Amino acid sequence: MSKILIDKEAYFHNLALLSKKAGGVDRLMAVIKDNAYGHGLELMAGLASEFGIKLAAVKNLQEALHVENYFDEILILADHPPSTSVGDKISFAVHSLEFLKSFPVKSNIHLNIDTGMHRNGVSMSEIENALKFIKDTGLNLKGIFTHFRSADDFNGELFWQQENWKEAKKIAKQSIKSLGLSMPKFHSCNSSALLRAKNGIKDDFARCGIATYGYTHIDKNIATFNLKPVLSLYAHRLSTRVLKKDQKVGYGGVYKACEDMCISTYDIGYGDGFFRYDGKGDLKISNGQKILGRVSMDSFCIEGEKDEVCLFDDVSEFSEYFGTITYEILTKLMPWIQREVNL
Ligand SMILES: *Cc1c(COP(=O)(O)O)cnc(C)c1O
Repeated sequence: MSKILIDKEAYFHNLALLSKKAGGVDRLMAVIKDNAYGHGLELMAGLASEFGIKLAAVKNLQEALHVENYFDEILILADHPPSTSVGDKISFAVHSLEFLKSFPVKSNIHLNIDTGMHRNGVSMSEIENALKFIKDTGLNLKGIFTHFRSADDFNGELFWQQENWKEAKKIAKQSIKSLGLSMPKFHSCNSSALLRAKNGIKDDFARCGIATYGYTHIDKNIATFNLKPVLSLYAHRLSTRVLKKDQKVGYGGVYKACEDMCISTYDIGYGDGFFRYDGKGDLKISNGQKILGRVSMDSFCIEGEKDEVCLFDDVSEFSEYFGTITYEILTKLMPWIQREVNL
C-alpha cells in the first residue's frame, strides 16, 4: 500500500502566489490534465475548487466528465471532436481548421492559434477564415489561445512569440467585431510565462500546471519563486533480511554487501511509475539512503527496517538524475497508488 501524500497547504500557497501574479483567482486556470500531473484528478479538482478556482484544463473528455461538478468551465486540451454534444461547462481546444469542421453545432470551443510553436493551432493567416467558419456553423467561441514553446528558456524566444500573439489577438479582435461575434477570452501563459510576467498579464487568464504543483524549470540561477512541492511518495516495507557480506541483492546482483547488513524491500517499483534505476549510480531517497541494486517492477531495497519510507517529497533531484523533467516523473505515477491529503 504505497501512498501519495498531497500537501494541501503547499498547493494553496502556490495557487495564491500564481493567482496574485495573474491578477486574481478568477484569472487562473488550473491545469489538472493527466490525472493532475499524477497528483490525482478528482482530489486536486476538489482542492482547486475549494481554493476558489473556477477554470480548469484537462486532457480529454473522460477527464472532463470526472471533474464537471467542480468548476464553471473545463477546457479539454488534447482530444478529438466528440460525436455528440457534451455538457455546457465543457469546452474543446480546436487545433486545426480540419477539426473545426467536425464539432457538433453549439459546441463550446477555444481556438488555438499557432504563433510559432508549430505543434498545433490554426496559422495566423487562417484566423479570419476560422472565425467566419465558427460564425457560419454556430459554434460557441469561448476562447482564443496560443501556447509558448520556450517559456522556460531565458533567451529572446518568449518575447518573439509574445509579439506574434499580440498580432494574432489584433487580427482576431478585428475580425470578431466585424463578424458580430461576442468577444471570447484570450489566454496564452503557462506556468513559466506567468512566472516571468513582470507586470501582470495582458490576457484574460493564465493556464498553470507545473507551478501549481510546486515546480518550474526556469533556471534557479536566474530566478526563484518560492513554490512548494505538493506531492510526496511513500513506500511500505514488504520484507526484511540480513544480506551477508559478499551476497548480492536483486536482478543482476548489482549491489554487493561489503559486510553483513539488514536490508528491507519496499512496495514501489517501475510498474508503479517510479523510474527504473539500474543500481549503478548513487540514487538516494529523501532521507539520504541509497537505493540498493536495481529497482524491480514492484519493489526496491534499502538498508534498515523502517515500516514506511519517503521516496521523495521534492521530485527535482530525481528528474535531474534521470535526465528528464519533473512533469514526466509526476505524470508517470500510476492512478492506483492511494492518494491522501495531508491535513
Ligand atoms: C500542459 C499545458 C499547460 C500547462 O503548462 P505548465 O507548464 O505545466 O504550466 C498550458 N497550456 C497548454 C496548452 C498545455 O498543454
